[in-house]
Amino acid sequence: MPVVTLACQAMATRFEMVLHGENPTALRAAGEEAVNEIEKLEDQLSLYRAWTEIAHLNARAADEPVKVSPPVFALLKQARALSLETGGAFDITIAPLVRCWGFMHGSGRVPAAEQLAEARARVGMGLVEFHEANSTVRFSRPGVMLDLGAIGKGYAIDRALVALREAGVTSGLIHGGTSTIYALGNPPDADFWQVAIERPPNSAGLSDFPETVALRDESLSVSAIWAKAFEAHGKSFGHLIDPRTGEPASDAVLAAVILPSATETDALSTALLVGAREVHARLAQSRPAIRTLLVLKTGNGLQVESRGLQK
Ligand code: AMP
Ligand code: MG
Repeated sequence: MPVVTLACQAMATRFEMVLHGENPTALRAAGEEAVNEIEKLEDQLSLYRAWTEIAHLNARAADEPVKVSPPVFALLKQARALSLETGGAFDITIAPLVRCWGFMHGSGRVPAAEQLAEARARVGMGLVEFHEANSTVRFSRPGVMLDLGAIGKGYAIDRALVALREAGVTSGLIHGGTSTIYALGNPPDADFWQVAIERPPNSAGLSDFPETVALRDESLSVSAIWAKAFEAHGKSFGHLIDPRTGEPASDAVLAAVILPSATETDALSTALLVGAREVHARLAQSRPAIRTLLVLKTGNGLQVESRGLQK
């Protein structure tokens, strides 16, 4: 069966897709539509580009209510709901803490206590006010800053999928930065796509780490502590920060979540890494069908906790 591959650079990462179908010309046209969707989002969501809706909010919403487009308004409300669901472990107002820990434009550093306290006071979804009637958002104090880095890639994949499905594509794989991957339908020769998750460093002895996971019409997101981290005072500090403590997450090294929505898996894998056991228990309650993999640090090594992973 013909196969078509496409790639694009957006949201500081690389998106790739592999599409299967009878007609390569139609597949390529559908893939290009999907790439357009992803590239369009970069202009709405990036906080690093001055003209995006999120940059606009970050610059002005502490002074006045700022109108946002209906899809961005809906995404921000979804992010708020995911924050509530995870007991605050996922929080798109994390930006002041990401900056304070030196991860915004650099590779990380330990902040001074006053800087940390100042950043913490600017973090919390409760500081973001939503005005439904006129689709505006306002921050209740200066210094609040949104960062959609933990949900944007998944959202982009969901949007790309709408374009692919509308064009009749029924089989393919699409990923953003390898951390979120969506398996559309099944491959031409099997019932499921088999996707491997990169093992954590020094995990050779971890026997219950899955070789692959089987996916069909599902998204897999993986958050990993070693993806971006620095060492100081004999300790390792990663780029995922617990909004409730202001400290880099340190109980788990890897978290993976499988669900039909890539927006949700992206946000929830971040939340699971940050909140570890506590968020794992919460998600088991709120989403009985969720499939998860969590690799926890123990006194002398690593330990796997998983739910529903194997089909
Ligand atoms: P991901 O790779 O999807 O887990 O997302 C990583 C990015 O999410 C980081 O680089 C930060 O920009 C942002 N981030 C860090 N901690 C959190 C958090 N607790 N909630 C939401 N976003 C976060
Ligand atoms: Mg994420």
